[in-house]
Amino acid sequence: MKEEGFKAVRGQKDIIRHMENAVKSGHIPHASLICGEKGSGKKLLAGLYARAMLCSGGPDVPCGRCLSCRKALSGNHPDIIWVRHEKPALITVDEIREQLVNSAGIRPYESPRKVYIVPEADKMNVQAQNALLKTIEDPPPYAVILLLADNPDALLETVRSRCVRLDLRAVADREVRDYLIKECGLAEGEAGMIASYAQGNIGRAREAALDPDFRKRREELVGLMKNMQRLQAAELTAAIRSLAENKDKIGEFLDLMTLWFRDVLYYKAAKDPDSLAFRPEFAEIRREAAAVSYEGLEEILKAIGKAGSRLKANVNFDLTIELLLLAIRDRMG
Ligand SMILES: [Zn+2]
Repeated sequence: MKEEGFKAVRGQKDIIRHMENAVKSGHIPHASLICGEKGSGKKLLAGLYARAMLCSGGPDVPCGRCLSCRKALSGNHPDIIWVRHEKPALITVDEIREQLVNSAGIRPYESPRKVYIVPEADKMNVQAQNALLKTIEDPPPYAVILLLADNPDALLETVRSRCVRLDLRAVADREVRDYLIKECGLAEGEAGMIASYAQGNIGRAREAALDPDFRKRREELVGLMKNMQRLQAAELTAAIRSLAENKDKIGEFLDLMTLWFRDVLYYKAAKDPDSLAFRPEFAEIRREAAAVSYEGLEEILKAIGKAGSRLKANVNFDLTIELLLLAIRDRMG
């Protein structure tokens, strides 16, 4: 792994400024809570922050060349501890005690500080959080604790209130597009489409860009949209069967569908083809914008949202998709 420092991070300027100032001034908060959705870059920033704190090079830290940086980049720094958990949905009190609370009293091995990083900290149960609380309330002078969370509201108020909270922000579309072109080798049109889909989340953009099936799902959606009005029993069954083959990706498919109808709504209001995510499908978007009322589009978007929540609640897959497709067809005119 190569060190690219804070400069390589897209967006998140406020958080980076905070981290750089903290490291430069030496006033590093003992506990920080880094919040942002999956894919937004929490681990990337926590790793950079930890390496910057322990870096002995410079002037820009982390330098990537000193012994500390090199150890950290290879995952072998004894004073950077990534707290792990066995069960996917739970961090237990034993895991917090063994990997953090019990060792926090031991001085760092070779650095001025000892950094604990807890990914998915919102998965700590109440006992684990209470065990951690004592260390956060009265930390040894060298200890720094970084809690990472998608859903900070799942943490106890007592834990949250003792942390400096850093919220990751959505990255501007043009930054995401630029990233996809330069770092993932995408063509401009493709990059623009995926940037719209990713909604400011670089991790999500990258995943879509590198997933060959993403393009297939998009084409499937476009095909379905173009044939919507002619959707009869046989086509309906075929569409459901095809979607059922990729049940785990249905969330992504519904997000693409939402993006499609946002395009229709946007074009209906603004008549501006250049800002469409599905620009190559402009002709179809324009046709639908003329054929479907504002109310109809609003109802379609609501129906997609409802289908998403039903599937998350494990309501019957085929039935949910059938109802959704019929609801869309009936409003397509
Ligand atoms: Zn260094």
